[in-house]
Amino acid sequence: MKRLLILLTLALPVAFAGAGDKKPACVPAKGGTMTNQITKTDVEWRKILTPEQYHVLREKGTERAFTGEYWNNKEPGTYYCAGCGTTLFSSDTKFDSHCGWPSFHAALAKDNVKLQPDHSHNMVRTEVLCAKCGGHLGHIFDDGPAPTGQRYCINSVSIKFVKKEKKPDAKK
Ligand code: FE
Repeated sequence: MKRLLILLTLALPVAFAGAGDKKPACVPAKGGTMTNQITKTDVEWRKILTPEQYHVLREKGTERAFTGEYWNNKEPGTYYCAGCGTTLFSSDTKFDSHCGWPSFHAALAKDNVKLQPDHSHNMVRTEVLCAKCGGHLGHIFDDGPAPTGQRYCINSVSIKFVKKEKKPDAKK
């Protein structure tokens, strides 16, 4: 009997050790979408952004026309949010709008950008924001080229360009 008690004393904690050890569900519910809203304090944003990026992304500033890094960039590649790295635009939809800011006729993934009315500066415009971090990217206008007729007018400082690498020549 004493042996049995000793065995039970040793075995019970082991048997129940895994009971409360279930991993939290990290995947979205079936049919749901993954929402990964990034929220940071102003102090945290200031730590990871340059003053120019902070002014545009977090204070809805606008860089001066024809001064940004990408308004005339014609390289093939992808543009990501400078605040959080979300994929935003492809060079495939970039066009020369002559407005002095990088312009795209479509977003790479519609869910990655958020549109909202903007009545600042006595104008009625539609603001474009990163859907993940809420960073201000620019504005969208209905004077773009086919096939969408839209013009995403985006601040260079809000985005980061990554050039598409050329595939190595298979013959060599
Ligand atoms: Fe973002």
